[in-house]
This record gives sequence, structure tokens and C-alpha cells, in this order.
Amino acid sequence: TDEAWLTLPNPEGVPVEICAGPDVPIEPAAVDELLTVLETNRTLRELGAATPGLDFEPRIDRVVGTPDFHKGAGIPIGTVLRTVGALVPQAVGNDINCGMRVEVTSLTVDQVRPHLDDLERRLRHLFFEGGRRIGLTPAHREGLLRFGLPGLLAEGVPDDSGRLHTEGYPVDSAAAFSDWITSGGGTSYDSIIGSVGGGNHFAELQYVSAVHDGAAAYEWGLAPGRVVVMVHSGSLTLGHQANATGRDLARAAWPRSVPLPSNKILPMLLDEPGAAGRERYLTAFANAANFALGNRFFLASMMRTGLTGAVGDLGSRLIYDAPHNLMWPEADGSVLHRKGATPAGADEPVIVPGSMGAPSYLLRGLGNTRALGSACHGAGRSIPRGAASKGSDAELDAFLRDFRVVTPLNHRDPAVARRHDIITAWRRDLKQEAPWAYKEVGPVVDSLRTAGVAQPVAELQPILTVKG
Ligand code: 5GP
Ligand code: MN
Ligand code: MN
Repeated sequence: TDEAWLTLPNPEGVPVEICAGPDVPIEPAAVDELLTVLETNRTLRELGAATPGLDFEPRIDRVVGTPDFHKGAGIPIGTVLRTVGALVPQAVGNDINCGMRVEVTSLTVDQVRPHLDDLERRLRHLFFEGGRRIGLTPAHREGLLRFGLPGLLAEGVPDDSGRLHTEGYPVDSAAAFSDWITSGGGTSYDSIIGSVGGGNHFAELQYVSAVHDGAAAYEWGLAPGRVVVMVHSGSLTLGHQANATGRDLARAAWPRSVPLPSNKILPMLLDEPGAAGRERYLTAFANAANFALGNRFFLASMMRTGLTGAVGDLGSRLIYDAPHNLMWPEADGSVLHRKGATPAGADEPVIVPGSMGAPSYLLRGLGNTRALGSACHGAGRSIPRGAASKGSDAELDAFLRDFRVVTPLNHRDPAVARRHDIITAWRRDLKQEAPWAYKEVGPVVDSLRTAGVAQPVAELQPILTVKG
């Protein structure tokens, strides 16, 4: 198993290990970026020294890189960071509670295939042509922001996915987003709920193409040919708003004697002096995290609505909703932060998507403590966005002939096809998300297995992807 781990010596002497097998390339730029993150340890010492009466020594305690580790804006994607006595908002990423939801349906791929044209039309209407009509009342909105899905259920939105074990992040108020609660329908938030969110977010229909762990597959309701819904989305604009609020609060509470850090990472101490600001940030954070749970729930139910219309009645069961941008403060004063990394506790479902048009995996977590109980949340990019958008047109056309992508722009619509500006932007975005812009998921999954982080349960092949 040691061959799957890379230890990173650093001047701070923090234990830093990256999980990646020999077949998974690690970007040197991401390693350099991670080393600048460790400078935050000095910031924490300075903050600690400037704050009398602390009963802990604030510090970064341990860092783990996942096999899809790559450069982010300030902190690499695929970073798990454990601190003592401090929150590091940037170590969660901007899209608070971005995550993956997977439901298994009662349908088989053979039942769905004959209806794909009809299904594509229905999904386009539901996702992009005003067909979703989610219609939340102010009480629904408040319940969702304060308690997540349990808040929606308490207000009477039925959970038709069979099983609900998606706990929310309860907070006393939804104060940070009071405009969202008090305004009636038709606000910007009402129009964003049920949005996929652009970029590499998606709602995808897949089927089980191979089973690797029969017992776990049986327990989760998976069998060869079974159709699965996978959703990747986050808190849309709410996470960005909460982070902007957090940055302002951290700057306002920053002691004058401590220089602003050159790596631009502004941690918050878990102590009394900054408490008011910290609590406001944590409320906004929880509101955004709860919103993301609701959004994934609605996206999956829109996919089910499309399936019901095109194929017929179906059953469905939640396998897991896994957040990959979140933090978990513990009672002992430690805080686990995951930015682009997914929980992989013992027997916990681990969702590892590949890319648009390529296979994805479901794995069973092994609760590996060396990995801080974490796994990668995808295959990860192999080509940066900018470079990928310069890819070949012929390659993109060949891909779109073979694979169904439902986007706001229907490239088959002649009125749209005449708009060169739209088509150019759309083609650029799709090239950034094409399978050749991502790593192969197979070696990434292998390194999780070799490192003892998670065991493959099932391979999933895509049927159709909603993007945009
Ligand atoms: P994130 O945006 O959370 O950093 O990336 C999530 C992961 O999702 C990526 O690393 C990539 O492996 C995967 N991914 C991106 N787009 C798609 C898609 O359209 N379908 C599937 N199945 N996976 C995707
Ligand atoms: Mn996201
Ligand atoms: Mn994400």
C-alpha cells in the first residue's frame, strides 16, 4: 500500500501525504500550491500569540491529497486539511457543499433506451424551458435554509426517493439570506433552485455496467443494467455569498499586530474574541450547505419526472448524498476541511464520477485514518480549462454524434445553429468538459483500492448527461 502514498516534507513539519498510485500523474503546480497553504501555520501561530487566554495552540494538524489532486485557486482541489482550534473557510472551496447525489431506480437500461428522444425533449423542457415549477413557499424556503431536506419535509414537500438519510446542518436562523425567505415567488433564488449550475456540474442518467462487490451492490439495490441517477451540484450563488461574508468578517476581526498573510488565506480562531463574526459566517455557511442538499434533491426528482413521463412509473432509492466541499468541526476543537474530497468512512458509499461520456464508479469506504477517512470526488482534470477549450472541432463533433448531452442550447435547433456567437461559446464550454480534458477514472479508482481507502462496488456507464 505504501506505493500509493507520497509524503511531502515541508518546513512546517506538518504530516502531508498524497494518495496516488504510479499511474496517476501529480501536477507539480498543485504540490507547490499546497506548500504555500502550509504557510497558514505561521499565520495561526501569530493569531494565537495576538489572542491572549487561548487554551489551545491553533495549527494545521495533518493534510492529505486525494488521487484527483490538482491546482485550485489558492488551495488545491482534492485537499483534506485538519486543523486544531481554527476554521479555514478557503479550505472548503467557494461552492459550499458542492456534492454528488446518487439514486438507484427500478428501471433497466433496456427499458429506457427506446425512449431516449422523448426523454431528451422532456428533460430539456424541465431543466431549461421553464418546466420545473418547484414553487416553494416562504415557509419551505426557511425550512430548507435552516434544516436542509428535513426542513422541507417538515413543511410538506414529499420525499419520493424512498429513503432519507441526508441530514442537514441545523442553524437557528436563516438570517444571512433573509431576502430569500421573505420575498415571494419569482426572486432570483426561486429561479436558481433546480439549476444544474454550469461547468462540470451535471445531472446524469447511468446504468450499472459491472459489479465488483456483490454484497455491497445487493445491499444498495444495484444490479447489472439497473438505471441510476447521479447529480453533481452545489449551493449556486449562496455559497459564494456566504464566503464573501466570511472574508469580510475575518478581515474585520483581524488583529492589527498580525500582517495579512501573503497566501491570502484568512483563518478564524475558535475562541471568544471573534465569536460574533464567526457565528454569522457559520450561519451563512450552514444556510448555503442546506440549500445545496435541497438543490440536489430537486435535480434528481426532475430527472425522475422526465423518466416517468417518457418511460412510465418507477421506484427510486437514495444511495447517498456526498458533500465534497465542506467542513466538520468536532467537539475536541479539531476541524476537518474537505475541498474537492469526499467522505470515505467505513461502509460509506463513495461516488467517483469520471467525466461526460465516460464511466463513473461507486465504491465502499474503508474508514482509512491515514487518508483522514477521505477519497477523491472525481477523476480530476488532466488538461486545464483554458487549454481544453482550444481542442479540435472534429473531435467534439464526433463525440456529440455518439453521446447525448442535454444543454440549454439545443444544437439541433436551426434558429440557434445560425447564432455563431452562441454556438462558439457553447462549443468552447463543452470542449472544457470533454472526456479528453479529464483523467481516466480507472487508475484513480485503482489507487483508492491500493491505498486501502475504498473498494469498488460498481461501474456505471452514462446514458445521457444534462449540463448547463
Ligand atoms: P468538481 O467540479 O467537483 O471539482 O469535479 C467533479 C468531478 O466530476 C470531476 O473531477 C470529473 O471527474 C467529474 N465530471 C465532470 N463532468 C462530468 C460529467 O459530465 N459526467 C460525469 N460522470 N462526471 C463528470
Ligand atoms: Mn461545485
Ligand atoms: Mn463539485
